[in-house]
Amino acid sequence: MAHKKMTEKKPSNLFYLGIAAIVLTALYIFFGTQEAPAEKVNLTTFQDAVKNEQIKSVEVKGNKIFFTLEKGEKKFAIKESDDTITDILSSIPQEKRDKLEIEITDTEGSSMWINILANLIPVLLIVGFFIFLFRQAQNSNNQALSFGKSGARLQEKDSKKNTFADVAGAKEAKEELIEIVDFLKNPLKYTSIGAKIPKGVLLIGPPGCGKTLLARAVAGEADVPFFNISGSEFVEMFVGVGASRVRDLFKKAKRNAPCIVFIDEIDAVGRQRGAGLGGGHDEREQTLNQILTEMDGFEKDTNIIVMAATNRPDVLDPALLRPGRFDRRIVVDIPDIAERTEILKVHTRGKPLDKNVDLTNIGRQTPGFSGADLENLLNEATILTAKKNQKTVTHENIEQSIEKVMMGPERKSRVLSKKEKEITAFHEVGHALVAHKLPNCDPVHKISIVSRGMALGATWTIPEEDKHLYSKSKFEDELCSLLGGHIAEKLIFGEVTTGASNDLERASKIARKMVTEYGMSTLGPIIYGERSHEIFLGRDFMHSKNYSEEMAAKIDQEIKTIISTAYGRTEDILKKNLEKLREITQSLLKKETLSRKEFLEFFEKTHGAKRSA
Ligand code: ADP
Ligand code: MG
Ligand code: ZN
Repeated sequence: MAHKKMTEKKPSNLFYLGIAAIVLTALYIFFGTQEAPAEKVNLTTFQDAVKNEQIKSVEVKGNKIFFTLEKGEKKFAIKESDDTITDILSSIPQEKRDKLEIEITDTEGSSMWINILANLIPVLLIVGFFIFLFRQAQNSNNQALSFGKSGARLQEKDSKKNTFADVAGAKEAKEELIEIVDFLKNPLKYTSIGAKIPKGVLLIGPPGCGKTLLARAVAGEADVPFFNISGSEFVEMFVGVGASRVRDLFKKAKRNAPCIVFIDEIDAVGRQRGAGLGGGHDEREQTLNQILTEMDGFEKDTNIIVMAATNRPDVLDPALLRPGRFDRRIVVDIPDIAERTEILKVHTRGKPLDKNVDLTNIGRQTPGFSGADLENLLNEATILTAKKNQKTVTHENIEQSIEKVMMGPERKSRVLSKKEKEITAFHEVGHALVAHKLPNCDPVHKISIVSRGMALGATWTIPEEDKHLYSKSKFEDELCSLLGGHIAEKLIFGEVTTGASNDLERASKIARKMVTEYGMSTLGPIIYGERSHEIFLGRDFMHSKNYSEEMAAKIDQEIKTIISTAYGRTEDILKKNLEKLREITQSLLKKETLSRKEFLEFFEKTHGAKRSA
């Protein structure tokens, strides 16, 4: 998006013109004062000319003797500075000397000016050079000379505007914001019946979910100026700058009202006060105080709406959140299935899509993706399409990109030994088989033994729909599926490898949370250990342990029980299905990836017949 820097004044051309004028004048005085074309001759020629009475006039300037001949020719000769003109002409008869008109001009005056100028020019040049450097540095944005200016960027009127149509999903957020747009457009409607226009709107949500985009869309819809500054820009380079930048920003905003001031990543300045190391007076606090003061200082009918965005609402200072400041809080959350499909639609506009692309299906395969992730995904798919020299983006290309975005690019160069491949295949099929057999596990979407990023293989399970609540039985089945890889290795090869360590880590975490956070064990519905909110010096930066040693032992015991129960169940399932485990693994080793369809074929009744064919 094109932005215009508000503070950046072009260094005036007048300044450079001035310098040029001074230099030129100096040069003119220096060279211009001398009679222009005079031929240099030696002293004897001059003396001869006097003797022969050929001279009309003589002028002595310092060491130079200028003379004009009868014919009008101008010449000059140079004498030694000690010799006077009388000394030089002493050999000439008196009567000839008398005829000469000799004018001696005082050279002191002009040479003094020349001296001064000669000394001044280098100084001027150096000063000019430094000023030039400063301007240069300032332009390249470290703002050495204007650090008190806000540096807020004003979105240009004619630049491409975002509207709500660019924001897919986020229905509730949009509804709230439509109200804000109306405040900006028809303030009278509200103020005339005594309603107060809200001053601050805080957009809260994980990164990449469209907070900045929404703020832009509000400005675009309301058709008002949009001042955009990032929280971290307040606290830059010089101490004490933040507060003056805030003042400057709001001054500008008031001049342009109605308008929107957007402070992105406000947590950079809006953290709880008194939490820093520098006592009560650190830079951030002063900036924050200034923001609060400015927001309180709006007159009742000042039509400025301050929008701010953060993904850390938990660390914000409570003062920011009190009514009259950022009293409107709008949550912009990770999109759900339907919203993901919408976002995909927005970002496929103008991309050549193949007919086989099923965006709903892609939406289903991308749980946890933010809007930015989805945008990135489609971009990867388009790049892939170009790489393959295809004309349209196909469904397969998008699917391939999902894996790339989630786990890093394929590592075809990583060579696994035959044995390693086999172990990986059994491991993955172990996960998949257990997940398939248990009712509470998500359906298996794909199994692969192509190395990606750090992983040697992967099993994708994808929920039918986004889940917000998880039951105890869901966790229990999930644990089994996580252990499936480890146990399959053990059953087939008699020992386990390091390949399962990530699975075990995740399993242990789930089990611990079941005991300490979700009240899903015999220890009852009690939270053990306070959850730490924030890792920041001075404020509860440690997970506080609020239970006894005795309890800690019980928790460990409980976790162990949960895991070993899951272990037993998993072992059971795999032992009963050893034949299937081998069968599917053989197929996976051959094909390297198994799609959901291929995987399900092993469980169909008709399968036996197909196999013999
Ligand atoms: P943040 O919440 O971190 O400020 P942004 O607003 O900067 O996220 O979003 C980054 C990009 O992701 C946007 O420029 C947009 O292209 C895309 N995006 C995020 N959410 C949406 C959405 N709901 N609809 C369409 N695009 C979105
Ligand atoms: Mg943002
Ligand atoms: Zn695994």
